[in-house]
Amino acid sequence: MISRVKYMAKKKEIQAEEKATAVEESKEPIHEEEVQLETPKEGLATELGEVKELEEVIVEEVKKKGAFEKEAWNPKTSLGIKVKNGEITSVDYALDRRIRILEPEIVDALLPNLTTDLLMVGQAKGKFGGGQKRIFKQTQKKTQEGNKPKFATFAVVGNENGYIGVGYGKSKETVPAREKAIRQAKLNIIKIRRGCGDWGCGCGDTHTVPFKVMGKVGSVELTLMPAPKGTGLKIEKECQKILKLAGIKDVWSRTEGQTRSKLNVLLACFNALQNLIQVKVQQKTINRLNIIEGNSKPAV
Ligand SMILES: [Zn+2]
Repeated sequence: MISRVKYMAKKKEIQAEEKATAVEESKEPIHEEEVQLETPKEGLATELGEVKELEEVIVEEVKKKGAFEKEAWNPKTSLGIKVKNGEITSVDYALDRRIRILEPEIVDALLPNLTTDLLMVGQAKGKFGGGQKRIFKQTQKKTQEGNKPKFATFAVVGNENGYIGVGYGKSKETVPAREKAIRQAKLNIIKIRRGCGDWGCGCGDTHTVPFKVMGKVGSVELTLMPAPKGTGLKIEKECQKILKLAGIKDVWSRTEGQTRSKLNVLLACFNALQNLIQVKVQQKTINRLNIIEGNSKPAV
């Protein structure tokens, strides 16, 4: 066994050595390549402040969005050609026959009053209260050349009258990520059922969900329940935006599972809305709850 005095002496020696090497390392000059990489590329925000400014611009752009020009559109699919010729005037044609929409312009042409919104799925980084919500989820890959950032965002489109779609887009820069998400959201468009399913309301308006419905993605289970008129959307904040664009005004909800991972909560909410249309309902139920599909009475 080594005596305590010897041990302390040895420890001091090691500490001194470590200090000497640390000083040497700090004196080493930084390589030129690394310095060059630190200058930001065009359109690629690296600083926290820049990203915030960029986000504001992007949100504004989404709200402005120019009118869709049907004449300039050159359809590539048979469904698109029919839409442009005016043979198909309702998006229900594709949704009822389960024809896959492969061009976002089809949705633009058939549902002219679409509203687009980007949801907060990301987190701001840094000190001083970092972790605030952002529309871009930033991730980085460590490589030999340095950190390679990637941006992802979650878009939702809807006409506030029975039609809704969500999409997730990921890219090396912010603007293409947004475009991908919006495109995907338009291709994922669905129609939902609405009615007055609350037992005490009975107003016959189409302000809530017609029956209790559940959606599940990952560990998250989200249940939507009919509520009487005037209740509002009693649900997580980002899900409110989805339901508002879908045209639902009152709802009660319940979630289970890892609801801190925002993405799965939002997808579970969309899944619940998808399940609304998959339940079989009888004609007498349709009459009693005043169920409508999309923005019109379902054909029997
Ligand atoms: Zn009601």
